Parts: sequence; structure tokens; C-alpha cells
Amino acid sequence: MLLALSIFLVLSVGCTKQEAQVDNGKYNVVVTTTILGDTVREIGGELINLEILMGPGVDPHLYKASAGDVKKMTKADMIIYNGLHLEGKMGDVFENMKNQGKLIFAATDGVDESKLLDFDANPGHYDPHLWFDISLWKEVAVRINEGLKELAEEHSEEFDKNLEGFLEKLTELDEYIRNRIEELPEDKRVLVTAHDAFKYFGKAYGFEVRGLQGISTEAEASTADVRELADFIVEKEIKAIFVESSVPKKNIEALQEAVRAKGFNVEIGGELYSDSTGGPGTEAESYIGTFKSNIDTIVDALK
Ligand SMILES: [Zn+2]
Repeated sequence: MLLALSIFLVLSVGCTKQEAQVDNGKYNVVVTTTILGDTVREIGGELINLEILMGPGVDPHLYKASAGDVKKMTKADMIIYNGLHLEGKMGDVFENMKNQGKLIFAATDGVDESKLLDFDANPGHYDPHLWFDISLWKEVAVRINEGLKELAEEHSEEFDKNLEGFLEKLTELDEYIRNRIEELPEDKRVLVTAHDAFKYFGKAYGFEVRGLQGISTEAEASTADVRELADFIVEKEIKAIFVESSVPKKNIEALQEAVRAKGFNVEIGGELYSDSTGGPGTEAESYIGTFKSNIDTIVDALK
């Protein structure tokens, strides 16, 4: 009896630490999106095994967790998601993981609510696309750092150092963006995209922003939406509009047609990364690369 009890104790104590560091002695961290994933990688570095559920070009608003995803989350030592209902179809899965006692949190849960933008069509909710306001994404990075330190206290110093380096790079990125925007006269700072992923960007950098679909891609654009936005483009003589890598191109193409039917020629200025980074091997593979690619595409097309 005593022997059985001590075996049980050894096993149960053994579980917590052993299971928490399975592969190569590293912690397994599962995140939802590539933008979040790159940020977690910046801070966690080589100290964690990172698993990203949604690949480049995947729309997080519509994404449903597969059986494989649930398995990965069940195995994970920590799960980090964006929150603010970006992962609109995954709420139940997150709740389930919480109930199982997983270390799981929304990276946006530390951001000062007064800085969040409203989700117009969904009262009581906030716009989840805050990665295009660098001052807010810095707050998210700080929250991620806290989470990782909670998971692996012994690496705290290294996480802090990584965070500091990342925050410095974000300050440089912000300067790069502001300098590029200076190339555009103020009346050209109008951004028309496939869905409303750029409101924080617009607020932070002084752009008027219009998305054909709303904040979530769940709501389809109506013909009235297309007509209204086409009128706006003609009236403002906007040179270019943009497709997004995680949203089908057909809506923006329909908008371009509607504008042309009114006798004004608007170009498709290129592809922006909205809810996802670019693919492996592209310059937009990282969060910073994504933002740089976007700002270059926007400024070059609207100039
Ligand atoms: Zn979105």
C-alpha cells in the first residue's frame, strides 16, 4: 500500500515538470495566427517550440479548429491566441482548454481598453486588428513576455532581453512607416481594402480607411456596399485600392469594375497582408516584414 502510494506520488509529481518540457527540453507553445506567432518567436526565441495553427493567407475570422489542432492544443504547455473575437469560430475550443486547466490567454487582454476601437456591427465588442498600431502591439508583446515568464520562470532574463530587443525594432519600424507616409500628400492618405483590418493603422498614421467587408469577413459585402464605396472612390479620385492575402480577390475586383463603370479608372495597387504574414521565404514572413511590405505597397501605389 505504501509502495503503491509512493509510486503514485512520484508519477503525479513527475507529470507536471516532465510533461511541461517534452521536446528537446523546450516548452511547447501553440498560437493561432502567423502575426502572433512571429511575435511570440521574437520573445521566446530558441527557448520554446512554437506551433502556429493558421498558416500564411488563412482567414482567422472563419477558421475552425481541426481535430489535429485540438490535439496540438491538448499537448501544449501554453496556448496564446489574439482574442477580441478575431478567432471568431474558436471560442468554444479555448473555453474547453481553459476548463482542462491549460495555461491559455489572449495576447490582447493586457491592452488598455480605452485605446481599443469599437466593432461597429457588433456592439460591446472591440475591433481585433490592433497589430497595425505599433504602440498597441508593444503592449501585446509585453503581455506575451509575462505569459512566457509564467510558463518558464527560469528563462525570465532571456525573455526580458528578447522583449527589449523586439521593442527597439518596433520603434525603428514605426519611424520607417512614418517616413514613408511623409511621401504622400495628406489628401492621398486614403486606404480602401477588402475588409476592415486597417482601422487601427488609419488612426495611428492619419489615414482615412474603408473596408469593403466589415471588421469580420463573416459579413458579405452587399451590392449597396459596393456602390457606396465606388461613389466614394470616384468622388475622392483615389488612385488605387488593395486586395488582401487572406481574403478572396473577387470583391475588390467587383469594386474596381463598379468604379470603372462610372468612368473612373482605379488600379488594384497590390496585395496587402491583413490578418496574416506572408509565406516562408518572402520578405513579409515576419511581423515587421509584413508591415514594411504593406506600407511600401500602399505608398508606392497611392503616390
Ligand atoms: Zn480581419
